[in-house]
Amino acid sequence: MLSKVNSYRKTTGFKLTFWYSAIFIASSLILLFFTYFSLKLSIRQNDHKLIQSEMEDYVADFRIGGISRLERALGEIKYKDSSGEDLFLVRLSDAKKDAVFLSIPQQWPAPDLKQLEEGPAKNKAGWSFIPSGGVKNTYEIFSKPLSPGLILQVGKLTVNSQELMGHFRAIFLQIIIPIFLIGFAGGVFLTFRALRPIRYLVNTMRLIIDTGEINARVPSGGRNDELQDLSRLFNAMLEKIEKLIKGMREGLDNVAHDLRTPITRIRGSAEMALRSEDNPENLKSALADCIEESDRILTMLNTIMDISEAETGAMLLNLQNVKISALIDEVTDLYSYVAEEKNISIRTSLQEGLQSVADRNRLQQAIANLLDNAVKYTPPGGGIDIQAFQEDQDTIIRIKDTGAGILPQELPKIWDRLYRGDKSRSQRGLGLGLSLVKAIIHAHKGHVEVASVSGEGSIFTVYIPGKL
Ligand code: ADP
Repeated sequence: MLSKVNSYRKTTGFKLTFWYSAIFIASSLILLFFTYFSLKLSIRQNDHKLIQSEMEDYVADFRIGGISRLERALGEIKYKDSSGEDLFLVRLSDAKKDAVFLSIPQQWPAPDLKQLEEGPAKNKAGWSFIPSGGVKNTYEIFSKPLSPGLILQVGKLTVNSQELMGHFRAIFLQIIIPIFLIGFAGGVFLTFRALRPIRYLVNTMRLIIDTGEINARVPSGGRNDELQDLSRLFNAMLEKIEKLIKGMREGLDNVAHDLRTPITRIRGSAEMALRSEDNPENLKSALADCIEESDRILTMLNTIMDISEAETGAMLLNLQNVKISALIDEVTDLYSYVAEEKNISIRTSLQEGLQSVADRNRLQQAIANLLDNAVKYTPPGGGIDIQAFQEDQDTIIRIKDTGAGILPQELPKIWDRLYRGDKSRSQRGLGLGLSLVKAIIHAHKGHVEVASVSGEGSIFTVYIPGKL
């Protein structure tokens, strides 16, 4: 139980909730304290202003008409008392500190008169705070010497402001618990919401790890934030991985399937040879069959290895100046017999003296694969055009056929390892030719493109850069 609590304390959910609640509660409290103190200050400032303005009135009376006018003004206080205006304590004292005049609103408790007499330091205007008898309210008194010995004191009981602040404190105490609750609930709610994509992500990952269901996806919310982006990217990555796994599975199936045929044939030949051991001719032909089939297997495995090498950049290129027209002529010669048999014409249009820096054997392999496909997928009576020319710095080799063409949906897949078009299964092939072409041309830092219309023909174009 304790370890569960401890491990929960380490979760992001807990940390987020804690920090959100703490910041919310702390800022609410700071705000409340600030409001409380600024309210207190402004009430006090307001009281001081009232007291000082009352004092100014009396000082003005004294300046204009001396003590007699001041006494007259002081005499009017009792009328003020009943008119409900702001109330003040007013005291005038002489040199002996005896009160010449003292007025205290009747509803106020009596102040400590002794302290009132003391006042502030001699001949200096200033504030003093005097407790009122028994009650915890305080008088705020402003004392001002009018002439030597004559001191006027005007003050107010802070009863109203104390009451107000008391209310405030009571409200403060009442709302502090709701603030704590709101802060905590807000923290839990926001954390729950904010971490939802992460929870989905974790659940999906766990499902994939536990069950191997790579087709599981993270549910996507409608939001457009970073976490949602993460989910989307994660789904896109899963999509890619799923495709890759599917491709590899299919590839493996295909390899197994393609290996099974020659191996079965080898086995069949060997069995036949065993049975007719006294006939050397049969033995010879069986061995020849075995060699032929073994070569097929070797070609397939070597091609797969070559593609991997070229794709990972490990293919060593034996770069040299290659005469392109001579190379294409050689390849064309190789296929002229098959083409003739199928009644397919091969025309070449090769720029004279065209040279390129390349690995001769690899480039030949690539062109041979393209021509092999063109012959394979072109029906009898068709034609193949091979062009080679230079454009800017690039050497361009284009092989155009009037063959079966490629369906638009198959176009992006033909470069994949072991991919074979649906209609091409009747033809011999491993589905590795174009992957090898692409890998070789990429190893030369070039690229290869295809344009094809199904039923009309295809054009494969190889670009070899002038500078490698
Ligand atoms: P393979 O020829 O052994 O099937 P490739 O990798 O050479 O494998 O080609 C992949 C697929 O691309 C072929 O199965 C075929 O469907 C398509 N393809 C390639 N070249 C051509 C072409 N010249 N005409 C029509 N389809 C082609």
